[in-house]
Amino acid sequence: MHVLVTNDDGVQAAGIHVLAAALQRDGHDVVVAAPDTDRSGTGAAIGLVNPDQHVDAARVELPGCDGIPAYAVDGPPGMCVIAGRLGAFGPPPDLVVSGINAGLNTGRAILHSGTVGAALTAQNFGCSGLAVSAEVADPYHWDTAARIALDVLTRLADAPPRTVLNLNVPARPYDDVAGIRWARLAPFGAVRAAVAPAEDGRYQFELRASGLVPPPDSDQSLVEAGYAAITTIIGIAEAWPPERDDHDALVMSSQPVPGAPLDEVHTIPDASLPRFLHRPHGAPPDPDPRPR
Ligand code: MN
Repeated sequence: MHVLVTNDDGVQAAGIHVLAAALQRDGHDVVVAAPDTDRSGTGAAIGLVNPDQHVDAARVELPGCDGIPAYAVDGPPGMCVIAGRLGAFGPPPDLVVSGINAGLNTGRAILHSGTVGAALTAQNFGCSGLAVSAEVADPYHWDTAARIALDVLTRLADAPPRTVLNLNVPARPYDDVAGIRWARLAPFGAVRAAVAPAEDGRYQFELRASGLVPPPDSDQSLVEAGYAAITTIIGIAEAWPPERDDHDALVMSSQPVPGAPLDEVHTIPDASLPRFLHRPHGAPPDPDPRPR
């Protein structure tokens, strides 16, 4: 399989080197195209396109990645994925793997994550994506996250086209990970943003402990309990009431703003395939699906 590996921490970040090398050892045809600097927090941005419409990308050598073509792109991860899918770095990839991010990407705050934004851009541009993030630790457990990413890829191969999985891995040795669990997005994170006026017209922007405990089946709680957590996500989709065959509902004045409840499970947006990939509501968690 042709795999494009990207990230938002930048092409020289340790996590992407471990991930690319692991994918190559697993037999994939790997190319790396990642931002030339840390572009964390850029979501699915493509950034400023130059007036003459060029994008700079330089060939680079990455530690531990002998034989893997790698490009440092002057753009955020979303641009790396778009360029890759359009054939900029060889054959368009069948799959985009993004990471391994230094730090978890859990809960609804993943809207802002460049790691996740790359996977969602892959979905928008016609292929599946996997975002991989590792819990902060010193040292980071990159090898654990890479091995579990390979485990999860075997599931992604059976999933509908344009599936996006968000994987978060606890900071543990591989054999100490409690298992892989389907997770729901935490409605809030362990930290929350706060902003306050500082001096000289600046504002202090901080992430503070929220003091809130997320639900036990959420990505954040499962990682804290020692599980690797996977969540199916989609990018841009219509919010629409469930009764979409009700034509009266199409009349704007017949009801206030339509919108699906946030806890509804959304199917993967591929009209040709009614399949979906999620843990059904009310179902018990999977038995440990981790290959040994
Ligand atoms: Mn990052």
